[in-house]
Amino acid sequence: MSQPTHQTGFGFARGEKKIHRYDNLVVKQPKPMQVLLKVEAAGLCSSDLHMLWGQDKRIPDKFIMGHEIAGQIVSVGSALVNHPLYKVGGRFAVTIADSCGSCKGCRSGNDNMCSGKMGSAYGLSQDGGFQQYLIVSNLRTLLPIPKKVSYVEAAVASDAVLTPYAAIQKAKPFLNPGDRVLLFGLGGLGANALQILKSYGLYVVACDLKPEAKELAQKFGADEFYNDINTSKHRPETFQACFDFVGFQPTFDGCQKYVSEKGVIVIVGLGRARLQMKNYELARREVKVFFSFGGTSQQQIECMQWVAEGKVKPVANIVPIKELPAYFDKLEKGQIQGRIVFDPAKL
Ligand code: NAD
Ligand code: ZN
Repeated sequence: MSQPTHQTGFGFARGEKKIHRYDNLVVKQPKPMQVLLKVEAAGLCSSDLHMLWGQDKRIPDKFIMGHEIAGQIVSVGSALVNHPLYKVGGRFAVTIADSCGSCKGCRSGNDNMCSGKMGSAYGLSQDGGFQQYLIVSNLRTLLPIPKKVSYVEAAVASDAVLTPYAAIQKAKPFLNPGDRVLLFGLGGLGANALQILKSYGLYVVACDLKPEAKELAQKFGADEFYNDINTSKHRPETFQACFDFVGFQPTFDGCQKYVSEKGVIVIVGLGRARLQMKNYELARREVKVFFSFGGTSQQQIECMQWVAEGKVKPVANIVPIKELPAYFDKLEKGQIQGRIVFDPAKL
């Protein structure tokens, strides 16, 4: 496969809150221990918006976004020419965390908590997937995509499936089949969360402000759906677990109101940087509150397996990357349903 010398990427300049299209970015040749990945699919996450608004101090001056990445190897460095895994044509998903492998987080299997390399991450603090080619220096960030999983599914599985999967594992030890759980937000993450919760035999009450989310809720087996849980007949303090895939005060308040005694709240949404907690209310009921951040590379492998087995069907639409600025706009206006995945070849 011939390697072009230049490419186009989308991101922003440090300090600016505006999406840029950067043409004529140089495509580097892989060094001996690097591979060059042709990005085949790159998902758009609500976190990309949060990124733009509250920028990480470590980002380079000209920064390429995109942290849900899947692609194929088009060229390998000289030290890898005979490597059995990293071969030209190999299909790989990329972990978000550019993990070091040797810090406490990595050694305990929590490589999404990597504190080495200052917790660097593709598309969050170093260049990501909103471009045609990505140099990968850290080979442990490449996970083989199972045959039955498409690039689009693999990209989505690296965050929009992984994050809910990992979040739900935190609550799972406290849940039994048939337990009632409340789910806020049926967006890119929440639609997959619903499928995972249903696969565990739970009774899921799903909530989303968007009326059109009802169809999605029904499609994936939600037992009930509401635009506003407060209009339902459910009594406060009756749900064994509440999952917040929005992270705004009203949804977190909903979790605090409806969670039962000894119940669990899991907060995944990052809609607001600060949330208020009702100290006495939660103490009285001895509620467990978990936060969750992405998932481990092992869980990402499990997610791709779940997708391969058809247990999770990611809701994703692939669109040309040239439309990226327009989709950012739509995301900001809440006009996107499911996951938007960019095809970087379509410029
Ligand atoms: P999304 O925009 O696709 O979905 C959000 C959904 O929440 C939408 O369907 C919207 O209609 C709904 N919503 C908004 N306000 C609501 C309310 N008051 N009540 C009920 N529903 C409401 O976003 P996404 O990509 O699924 O991400 C969800 C959140 O998770 C974002 O804040 C994102 O930054 C965060 N996130 C966190 C992690 C993590 O590791 N913790 C990883 C990825 C994304
Ligand atoms: Zn580490």
